[in-house]
Amino acid sequence: MLNSWMLHWRKIFLFLLTSLAIQQANAEYIAVDTGHTPLHPGATGANGRVEYLYNLSVTDALAQDLVARGDRVSRTSADGKEISLQERSANAPDADLFISIHHDSILQEWIDAGRSKEFSGYSIFVSKKNTHYEQSLNCAQKIGEQMLMIGENPSLYHAIPVQGENRLLIDQYFGVHQYDDLIVLKTAPMPAVLVEIGVIANPDEEARLSKPEVVQRVSHAIATGIHACSMTKNLK
Ligand SMILES: [Zn+2]
Repeated sequence: MLNSWMLHWRKIFLFLLTSLAIQQANAEYIAVDTGHTPLHPGATGANGRVEYLYNLSVTDALAQDLVARGDRVSRTSADGKEISLQERSANAPDADLFISIHHDSILQEWIDAGRSKEFSGYSIFVSKKNTHYEQSLNCAQKIGEQMLMIGENPSLYHAIPVQGENRLLIDQYFGVHQYDDLIVLKTAPMPAVLVEIGVIANPDEEARLSKPEVVQRVSHAIATGIHACSMTKNLK
């Protein structure tokens, strides 16, 4: 009786030890960047709430999710202080991945023309000038795959050939664009991805993206995508 009891607990102990070892083997060091600052808050949502606050909600949830997976997380622009674009990507040079979180707007002329509700969805960007372009693209696709799996759709309007957009759409299915001169992506010394979560200029999309459960779901999908890309090959 005592022997079987001890065997039982020994199995549980070994299981926990193995789980911990697997978790540590997959642990990453992720630089999580909150797009913009309180002083320069980026786009303005349809109801007046600024982009920085949306970005902060997602990066708070994303950082928590990654830490819960055993990852180490370094954050930029979560403290509200001004920070340059170059400082963002240089802040954690040893990180395995740099991920910048933003929320999207549309061209002012489209807003003025009352077209805000025509545009919705996420978009993902990588820079070919990043020294780890292939890995960046791999991570961008894995994140896009997870966004699709939770029912989010790529916006694709950044590829419309008008001045101010006209971004090269390199993966239509997963919503990945090439934007070589995005400074945080091209200067990052590690693989780097920028995600526009959705279009806050669209009042319907803004209301949906404001919901805490949506913030959690999207953040969880991004964290899962980050881990999926690190499983396929070493990030760096
Ligand atoms: Zn932004």
